[in-house]
Amino acid sequence: MKATCPICKITFELPDDVVDGEIVEHDCGVTLEVKLVNGEVVLKPLEGVYEDWGE
Ligand SMILES: [Zn+2]
Repeated sequence: MKATCPICKITFELPDDVVDGEIVEHDCGVTLEVKLVNGEVVLKPLEGVYEDWGE
């Protein structure tokens, strides 16, 4: 299962049994939360909370 790191933009391989909400660390040092959206893997950085507060 491939995913792209939102920080360094490198595509890397996740375990096939990765689950929604799992926390993974990428080689670049960022901590990422796994989100499964429509069968696609989306990675959200945990460090620095990128909350969208809206306008
Ligand atoms: Zn990375």
